[in-house]
Amino acid sequence: MDVATRIHLLNLIKDDIIKYEKKILEGLKKDLGKCEFEGVVAEVQYSLNEISHTLKNIKKWVRPKKVKTPLLHWPSKSHIIYEPYGRVLIIAPWNYPFQLIVSPMVGAIGAGNKITIKPSEVSSHTEALVKEIFEQEKYSNYIEVVTGGVEETTALLKRRFDYIFYTGNTAVGKIVMKAAAEHLTPVTLELGGKSPVLITKNANIQVAARRVVWGKYMNVGQTCIAPDYILVEKEIKDQFVHAVKKEVVAFYGEDPKSSSDYGRIINSRHFSRLKELIPEDVIIGGESDEDSKYISPTIFHAKLNDPIMKDEIFGPLLPIIEVKSKEEARSIITSKEKPLAFYIFTEIVSEARKFIDSINFGGGVINDTLIHIANDKMPFGGVGHSGLGGYHGEYSFKTFSHAKSIITRKTVFDILVRYPPYFGKLKIVRWLMKWVG
Ligand code: NAD
Repeated sequence: MDVATRIHLLNLIKDDIIKYEKKILEGLKKDLGKCEFEGVVAEVQYSLNEISHTLKNIKKWVRPKKVKTPLLHWPSKSHIIYEPYGRVLIIAPWNYPFQLIVSPMVGAIGAGNKITIKPSEVSSHTEALVKEIFEQEKYSNYIEVVTGGVEETTALLKRRFDYIFYTGNTAVGKIVMKAAAEHLTPVTLELGGKSPVLITKNANIQVAARRVVWGKYMNVGQTCIAPDYILVEKEIKDQFVHAVKKEVVAFYGEDPKSSSDYGRIINSRHFSRLKELIPEDVIIGGESDEDSKYISPTIFHAKLNDPIMKDEIFGPLLPIIEVKSKEEARSIITSKEKPLAFYIFTEIVSEARKFIDSINFGGGVINDTLIHIANDKMPFGGVGHSGLGGYHGEYSFKTFSHAKSIITRKTVFDILVRYPPYFGKLKIVRWLMKWVG
């Protein structure tokens, strides 16, 4: 797609998101009990911002980048040209079912690709809406929508694409990568994992508690970068637990079930999975209702070998583990797969930086949760089992572009010493490479 077409298409999508906003919010409500505030902030406006940022910068991003050329190649010029891969497959999950289709789509279109999108069948109302919007005639030359579950996605993955962008759990990430390997198709994998929070004894406890509760209970904990478990230094554990309880009540009242800001679990399978993980003794919460797929904000003390510490929780359960030192926290974190996010709370920034430098994770925040995802100047992605590659803003453009390197040579001058026969030329070539190359 030429740049004018990309801009035209992005504007069409922007207009449609505005036009369909009410329906999108209704779909999210039906799928996840998502309230209007979270629907607007984390899905609709978030997607619109990604489009606006791309529209604002696209002409700059597509320009061939001039780079320096070694003197050895003189006279010549070097450029990097960003070309589209071709057709990109985007597979999305159910937890932010609209945003996780649109956001990568914006990058793929910005880079000039045609796309095939596969929304999650699990969030069926949003899936139907994505189909309704993007199957309109005006998109038919550029966007293909495929719906369905495992069977359809398995068939889809047999097709040859030029790039695959998958968001979802790590186990399916491996299936996607294997399928991509068959055609040597490059992939981005946006996966999940257990994202820890470390509350140090130097934290502002009340603010830490508020920001942890906010990050955990947005979308009922069904957020890839939600705090999964808390490590708290023993000196301040009781104060922190007290503050967390206070914040849960301040946010959702004594009965979160009746709060219009508190969502629901996506389906019965996840409801049962989470219910199984609730221990007997809790600090707060533990209530559930199968019919409405409600599980209250549930916080409890945990030990390292409890079942809750095995896999990503992806729900409103928050285990708190006391640690004696930062060293102990580090060894707990590094004993697990590299997390997608990590959060540390301390008023001593140098302490946080030192800790951050000593562990691997996708991205994170000092003294807050989640917000790093909303800075389009930074790549968002995981590492190891939490993902491969990154996107957002210009990083999306680069993810969905092949960087083609071109040197344009002049013919007026030729260093003949590089051509055979080589006899007697090595010394001078070695000198040239060392000092001029
Ligand atoms: P999901 O069940 O909707 O699956 C994701 C997609 O994979 C769907 O489109 C689905 O149809 C497809 N799929 C499922 N099983 C498949 C199979 N066997 N073969 C081929 N395709 C298959 O969503 P999910 O995986 O439950 O999503 C939640 C996970 O996604 C969590 O681990 C979460 O952390 C992660 N996540 C990561 C990010 C990120 O940006 N890194 C964002 C959101 C969610």
